[in-house]
Amino acid sequence: MIHGNIVDIFAIDNKVAITDPVYPVYLDTNVMAGRSGKYNEKKGTYENIVYLPVTAENNFKPELPKEKVDMIYLCFPNNPTGTVLTKEDLKVWVDYAKQNNSIILYDAAYEAFIEEENIPHTIYEVEGAKDVAIEFKSYSKTAGFTGVRCAYVVIPKTVKGYTKNGEEVKFNTLWNRRTCTKFNGVSYIVQRAAEATYTNEGKKQIEENIEYYKENARIIKKGLEEAGFSVYGAVNSPYIWLKVPEQMTSWKFFDKLLEEVNIVGTPGSGFGPHGEGYFRLTAFGTRENTIKAIERIKNWNI
Ligand SMILES: *Cc1c(COP(=O)(O)O)cnc(C)c1O
Repeated sequence: MIHGNIVDIFAIDNKVAITDPVYPVYLDTNVMAGRSGKYNEKKGTYENIVYLPVTAENNFKPELPKEKVDMIYLCFPNNPTGTVLTKEDLKVWVDYAKQNNSIILYDAAYEAFIEEENIPHTIYEVEGAKDVAIEFKSYSKTAGFTGVRCAYVVIPKTVKGYTKNGEEVKFNTLWNRRTCTKFNGVSYIVQRAAEATYTNEGKKQIEENIEYYKENARIIKKGLEEAGFSVYGAVNSPYIWLKVPEQMTSWKFFDKLLEEVNIVGTPGSGFGPHGEGYFRLTAFGTRENTIKAIERIKNWNI
């Protein structure tokens, strides 16, 4: 939800960059706020929004925008692709933001799934990020809070924007004002639940839970690869991003998967035009169902 609220503290004519495919909330909240132009049916994109393709061709690493943008949404480990950026990859974005007075809106919702070395757990591991980055951290995926809703946002006092007259404004001050005006806070019982995730027992339970999902992700990745699919993500992430067979759209694959082996997933094209030809599966199921589904896919004559 914070992702939807943060747009309040930016000017309406700020230019937004998102990856394509993307977690739809970043795009839709800005469209609702009036920050986009018209929708182009044919291209499946909005005018005035900068789309940064992330596909197998560029190894799921977005390239810097060719024009100056003001707000850059980055989410790593990524939803939907399950891919990550290294510290060096992220440094390029921090440097761009510094040079262009842009703000990076960094979503670390899946940080707890990181297992590889040199993958930053927070953007503040990158030098200079404290001057240009706002970070979101939701409890939804770390601690299974999806229905309960609790999250926090980090806005260092060094992150500044500029008024039309060139005056410096701290985003921290704007956010404080915005929150005190429009939000009454997360309920006490939910705050206590969030607090409990930092106790030894809480940490242990969360780790076990995440390990359970990560094992599901390994099972899905291995099974799909054995079935001949190209598979991305699934390592530092609960998401498995697969390439659908040639000449098939994401939705065609969705239909076949549902009708022929009774498995539901998410068509990549729903996350943006460059998600076309891909498909997202998640590890957030039971072990039993995960194994059953993968067996069906392996025996599937697609
Ligand atoms: C699920 C998810 C969230 C969680 O958002 P909440 O509103 O806190 O539940 C945030 N970012 C991404 C990319 C997600 O997939």
